[in-house]
Amino acid sequence: MKEQATALSVYNTLSGTKESFKPLNEGFVGMYVCGPTVYSNVHLGNCRTFISFDLVYRYLLHLGYKVRYVRNITDVGHLVDDADQGEDKIAKKARLEQLEPMEIVQMYTLDFHNVMQQFNALPPNIEPTATGHLIEQIEMIQDILDNGYAYESNGSVYFDVEKYNEAHPYGAVSGRKIEDLIANTRDLDGQDEKRAPLDFALWKNAAEEHIMKWPSPWGLGFPGWHLECSAMSTKYLGETFDIHGGGMDLKFPHHECEVAQGTAANGSTPVRYWMHGNMLTLNRKKMSKSTGNSISPDELFSGTSDLMEKAFDPMVVRFFMMQAHYRSTLDFTSEALAAAEKGHERLMEAISTLQSLKASNESTADVPSLVNAFYDAMNDDFNSPILVSQLFEAVKLINSVRDGHASLTEADIDLLSTEMAAFVYDVLGIRPAEEKGETRLSPVMDLILDLRKQARENKDWATSDKIRDGLSDAGITVKDGKEGTTWS
Ligand code: AMP
Ligand code: ZN
Repeated sequence: MKEQATALSVYNTLSGTKESFKPLNEGFVGMYVCGPTVYSNVHLGNCRTFISFDLVYRYLLHLGYKVRYVRNITDVGHLVDDADQGEDKIAKKARLEQLEPMEIVQMYTLDFHNVMQQFNALPPNIEPTATGHLIEQIEMIQDILDNGYAYESNGSVYFDVEKYNEAHPYGAVSGRKIEDLIANTRDLDGQDEKRAPLDFALWKNAAEEHIMKWPSPWGLGFPGWHLECSAMSTKYLGETFDIHGGGMDLKFPHHECEVAQGTAANGSTPVRYWMHGNMLTLNRKKMSKSTGNSISPDELFSGTSDLMEKAFDPMVVRFFMMQAHYRSTLDFTSEALAAAEKGHERLMEAISTLQSLKASNESTADVPSLVNAFYDAMNDDFNSPILVSQLFEAVKLINSVRDGHASLTEADIDLLSTEMAAFVYDVLGIRPAEEKGETRLSPVMDLILDLRKQARENKDWATSDKIRDGLSDAGITVKDGKEGTTWS
């Protein structure tokens, strides 16, 4: 473990303050993040949340923790209207596209993995699926029933929120009071299976036409949306574990229900540090597929979105996200991305310059303090924008040593090289240029695009089209914009 690990503080949604981070077991962190519901392609908003927790995971690893990172795949039970109403999103998509539900699941799980890999997000240690854990979910419902916090109604099982609240406060994660929640819910219409409007489904009885259903002690049905995360986190991380993350929009009802389920089943609160990432916005509104206010990673990387002036490299997009703190909202604009692109380039150039700096007998700057500032930033609740600003202090220093206005000893150059590589590549997760193959490809692409330009100047459209189509077959997109031709 690095000595800096003792100074890490984490904002805990439960207390509403930053707390000194002390995991349950020394040197080991159990971390669970709610994964995607795989019924459509992920949009950039989803990606932001997963990239935020990738940063958390990476920094914990950098500090020397052994981390068991669990992120689920929701492949059932997430209903269209809210947790209890409507059709299963995956089943609906399967019906519309005339595919098996598991074909939908496979298609969008592969897409999700592909996008996460492009963003250089590390895979979790365990990626469990809801359909793979029906036995655990049924067992957990049974425990909650046995402990008196749930009731069966018409082949469904509901969590009794008011009964639970008599023994344990309901609303701790989202900062809500049960009286307000009750006042703001619609009355039941008499046909409802539930005893009270706040009660939520642990198991739903499946109608005849429902395709995704399983046998249970209560009949054929399917699990409620909130249950899978409780069942899988308990299975892989224990009844109480260190970190649970997800987007802010999951605080209520999803995470509130998870706390209630875990406590009702096991008698102890499941999570010690609740962490919530803030939203990515577009036109200052939450990015969301259902409202159409969204952009897909593919559109962004290929430059095919009308909202963007050109294509952007996944590492530029990642760097853009790192320039905001995970608890702040971040607005997505073409200009902000263009600025991030310049910043990313300056940073990468400085890292390369650092390798060829000439050492002096004396340093004119305090490199150990600068490196400490990298740790201080990340130890302050993973403050990546402060880290980035400290990295740019290093860039300034490197450039002034290169220009002969400052000097560094061999030891300081080595320290800065090691720590900059660690923080840029390992912690921020920016892929080194060599790994992207860009350094090898760039001169070749310059040559090809130059030939294409000449062909166009000569009005030799056949050759120019042949070049573009050939590149396209090779997976390279060429885009002609105001600022010239770009490729990705
Ligand atoms: P879903 O598949 O809808 O359950 O969402 C997967 C994850 O993406 C959840 O953690 C959400 O909180 C998160 N998410 C959804 N929209 C956004 C957004 N606009 N910005 C950041 N995270 C989001
Ligand atoms: Zn969840």
